[in-house]
Amino acid sequence: MTSKEQETPAPSVRLADTGSPIEALATSPVAACLLDAQGHCIEANPAFLTLIPGFDECGPRDSLLHSEQAAQLLGSLKALTAGTLSCQTLQHYRIQHDGCAWELQLHLSAVPTAGGADGGRVLALVQDDSGQRQRDLELKQLTNAVENSGSAIVITDADGSIQYVNTRFTDITGYSLNEVIGRQPSFLKSGNTPREVYDELWSTIRRHHKWRGTLHNRRKDGSYYWSLQSISPILDENGTLTNIVSVSDDITQIKEHQQQMERLAFFDPLTDLGNRRHFRDQLEELLRARSDHISALLLLDLDHFKKINDTMGHEAGDTLLRTVANRLRFCINAPHSVYRLGGDEFTVLLTDLNSIDRIRDYADDIIELLAQPLDIGTHQMQVTVSIGITLIGIDAMDVSSLLRNADLAMYRARHVGRNTYQFYSPEMNAEARRALTLEHDLRQALDRRELQLVYQPQIDLHSGQMVGMEALLRWHHPIEGAISPVEFIPMAEETGLIIPIGRWVLAQACRDAQRVRAALNRPLRVAVNLSARQFDDLGLEQMVRTCLADTGLPAEALELEITEGLMMENFETSMTVLSQLKRAGVTLAIDDFGTGYSSLSYLKKMPVHVLKIDRSFVQDIPDDRDDLAITSTIILMARQLGLQVLAEGIETEEQRQFLLASGCRVGQGFLFDRPLPLPELLKRYGPAPV
Ligand code: C2E
Ligand code: MG
Ligand code: MG
Repeated sequence: MTSKEQETPAPSVRLADTGSPIEALATSPVAACLLDAQGHCIEANPAFLTLIPGFDECGPRDSLLHSEQAAQLLGSLKALTAGTLSCQTLQHYRIQHDGCAWELQLHLSAVPTAGGADGGRVLALVQDDSGQRQRDLELKQLTNAVENSGSAIVITDADGSIQYVNTRFTDITGYSLNEVIGRQPSFLKSGNTPREVYDELWSTIRRHHKWRGTLHNRRKDGSYYWSLQSISPILDENGTLTNIVSVSDDITQIKEHQQQMERLAFFDPLTDLGNRRHFRDQLEELLRARSDHISALLLLDLDHFKKINDTMGHEAGDTLLRTVANRLRFCINAPHSVYRLGGDEFTVLLTDLNSIDRIRDYADDIIELLAQPLDIGTHQMQVTVSIGITLIGIDAMDVSSLLRNADLAMYRARHVGRNTYQFYSPEMNAEARRALTLEHDLRQALDRRELQLVYQPQIDLHSGQMVGMEALLRWHHPIEGAISPVEFIPMAEETGLIIPIGRWVLAQACRDAQRVRAALNRPLRVAVNLSARQFDDLGLEQMVRTCLADTGLPAEALELEITEGLMMENFETSMTVLSQLKRAGVTLAIDDFGTGYSSLSYLKKMPVHVLKIDRSFVQDIPDDRDDLAITSTIILMARQLGLQVLAEGIETEEQRQFLLASGCRVGQGFLFDRPLPLPELLKRYGPAPV
C-alpha cells in the first residue's frame, strides 16, 4: 500500500464478511462485489478496489452507477433480486470516473439471502473489458503532454494534410486547429527558405528518416518567424508511412540576435556601411573572380577631417561621417559597393566596368556630391575628399598591395591640392620610398647643419631701396642636393619636426636681421613664415618673445606671415593666436592673399598689418584683365582698411609699374632679387667696402 492510501479514510464499503460469497473471492484476481437492488456496493474484494479506483466522497460504493447504462444495470438488479432472473452478463458496461472512462463486463448473479429487509443481493464479477482503462490513462497522459508541450506540434497524415495541432502551434502561428485542419503545412511558408531545403526535407522523410532544420515561416498576422523543426515519419507495423509529426520551436529571437552579431562583425554601426572585414572579403572575392572587365578600388579620405573633429566635437564629426556615408550610398549602387574602414577612411569597389573613363566619372560624381554644403548643427560647411584609385587585378593581385597602392595614390591626390583623385602608378612606390628616406634624413638635417636661411629683399617699388627681407628656408641634402621647402615643409609638419625647425628659423632670422640692420644702419624688417602646425602650438607666443629677448631685435622689426588659407581654416583660433602675437608687438602679414576666400567682413576683424598679394595674380599682369582688376581691387581694399600691401613674385618692369600706379608701394620678386644667402645679401645691399 502506498502512503497515500494509508492516509485515505476507510471506504464505506465493507470488505467481505465471513460467509459471504465475497469472502471466498478475497484473494481472487477476479474483481467481485456484492450489490444491493439499488446498485450500491455493499462488499467488495481487494481486486475490485484495485480495478475501480478513487475513494472520493462517493467512494466505489456508487462506482458502478457512474454510467450512462446505469438504468440497464438497475433493471437487471431488479429482475435478479426479484428472482425473475438468476444471472446476467452486461457487456461493454461503460463507467466514467475522475475524467477517465473504461469498459467493464459485469457478470451478475443473484445471491440467495435470508430475506433481509433491504431486499436481495447480487454478486457482480467484474472484468476490465478491453484493457481500455490502461490505454485511456496512457492516452490521456500522452494527449496532455502533446497539448501542453512547450513546442509546437503538428500531426499530418501520410499525404501531409494536417490532422492535429497543439496550443503552442496556435500561440506561435496565430492559426487555430479549425483553421488548419486538412491543410498542407506549406501555407506557413514565407518564401524565404530556399527550395533545396524543402527538397531535402521531403527526400529525408520519404526515406523514412527524421529531418532537422530551420525554416523561415509566416504567421497569420503576416509577420515572419524562424522555426527550428524536427520532423519524423510515423510508420505502421508494415513499415508504411501513416503520419508525419513535426515538433518545432520559434527561434526568431535567437536568430535575430545571431544576425545582429553577424551584422556587427561585418558592418560599421555608425554609418551602417560594410566594415573593413566585409571590404576585405568582397575584395578577395573580386580577385578570385578574375573578370575580364575592369574593377577598381577607390580609397577616400576626407580633407581636414581631424581638424573638424577636434574643433567642432565628436558628435559633429559623427554627423559628418553619417552624411558622407549617405551621400556615397546615393551615388554608388549595386553591383558597386561602399565601405567605411574606420575614421574618415572610406572605400568604394567598382566592378565590371568597360572603361577607365567610367571610373573617372564615378570619382568626379563623388567629389561633386561631397562638395555640396552640409549642415552640422548650426554650422554650414563643405567637405572635400582626396581619392586614390587602383585597378584590381591589374595594379596588384592581393588585398594588402591594392590597399597600399590606393593609399599612395590618395596621398598624391592630397599632395596635389586635395579635392581631387589620382590613379596609382608604379612610380608612386619609388616616390613613397624616397619620401620615407627624406623623412628620416630630415630628422638629422638640423643637427647636421644642412638647413640654411636665404633672404629675398623686399623693395620700395618707387625708390628701389630695400625696406625688408623675407627669410626662406633651404635644405641642402647631402645626396639629393637642394630640396624645395614646398616639398619638405609639409613633411616636417606631418612628423612634428616643424616645431624645432621653426624655432631654429625664427632665432636664426632674428640674429641675421640684427646683423643686416647693423651693417646697413637702417630699421629693416625681417619676415618669417609660420606653418599651420606652429600656429596650433600653444607655446608660440612665448617662443617669439624669448627669441626677441635673446637676439635684441625690436618686436616691430619682426614680421610673421601666415597664409590666408590657414587663417580661414579656423577663424576663431586664428583670431586668438594673432591677437596674442600682436600683443607681443610683432607685425603680422597675410601671405598668399587672394587664394583663401576670406571675405571683407573677416578681414576687418583680423588683427593684421600687411597683405601680401599672391604671386599668381601678379604673374599675368599686364595680360590678364581679371588679374589686373583683382590686384588693383586688393590694393584699394587694403588701403581702405588701413593695411600695408606688398606684391609677391614681381618679375617684370611692367608689373612693377602697374603695381606702383595702382598704389602698391612695396614688392619682392626675381625682378629685384632671388632669395640670397646672407653674405650675398650684405654684399649687394651693404655699404660699399671702404
Ligand atoms: P612664400 O612664403 O609665399 O614664399 C614666396 C615663394 O615665392 C618663395 O619660394 C620664393 O622663392 C618664391 N618667389 C619669390 N619671388 C619670386 C618670383 O619673382 N617668381 C617666382 N616664380 N617665385 C618667386 P620658396 O622659397 O620655394 O618657398 C616656398 C614656400 O615655402 C613659401 O612661400 C613658404 O610658404 C614656404 N616656406 C619657405 N620657408 C619657410 C619657413 O622657414 N617656414 C615655413 N613655415 N614655411 C616656409
Ligand atoms: Mg611668405
Ligand atoms: Mg607667398
